[in-house]
Amino acid sequence: MTRHKSRKQSKNEFDAPWVAAVRRKVLQWGRRNFASYPWREDRDPWLTLVAELLLQRTRASQVVAAYELFRTKYGTPRALLRSGHRGVRALTSIVGLHGRAEALLAVARLFEKTGVPQVGDLRAITGIGAYTAGAWLSLHRSQRAVIIDSNVFRWLGRMTGRPFHRDPRGVKWVNDLADDLTPQRSFRDYNYAVLDFTMTICTPRRPQCMHCPLLVMCVYGSSAVDGGALSER
Ligand code: SF4
Repeated sequence: MTRHKSRKQSKNEFDAPWVAAVRRKVLQWGRRNFASYPWREDRDPWLTLVAELLLQRTRASQVVAAYELFRTKYGTPRALLRSGHRGVRALTSIVGLHGRAEALLAVARLFEKTGVPQVGDLRAITGIGAYTAGAWLSLHRSQRAVIIDSNVFRWLGRMTGRPFHRDPRGVKWVNDLADDLTPQRSFRDYNYAVLDFTMTICTPRRPQCMHCPLLVMCVYGSSAVDGGALSER
């Protein structure tokens, strides 16, 4: 259950022990259930940024083949630029990622111009939003960043029992809570855990509450247990 604290203590209404317990359980779950994908092992700034672009609104399992193809053909930004629009579009259309061809080329140009880019320059590229930049920084560049996508909105909304509204106040509330939950040191492990957890346990439909380590702390899951509805999910 959620626990409230004074405004003076926090930017959101959850107290430090509750936040720490959620963070700890997510990290524990993540370490036991880490999903291995090729880009999670790679360290190359170019290839890992490409991976985060390919992962936009696409399931990781669908991206594996595209990423392997990309890594083989365009292991460097220069290789991609040499192939030009025709080569990139041929590849992206094969794997169904056609809309990302322009962003991939723009990222390649930026790498060629500046080396590993600064996040401000990246964000100036159409198609690179806060989520993609944050994921790249925190998962591949060892820089803490809070990453929030629709899965995180859904998960935190269920956990807290607070209906989520995509207005500025609602977005700020989720941002503040996600920021509190993201550890200062183990942010990479935590962000991977959240990605995997929201893809496999706290799913959009039929969340796996009976297998969820957060069940006793979750408003949605607890009310489903109380209402006898979980066995139907
Ligand atoms: S108990 Fe259910 S709704 Fe709550 S976080 Fe876990 S899977 Fe999601």
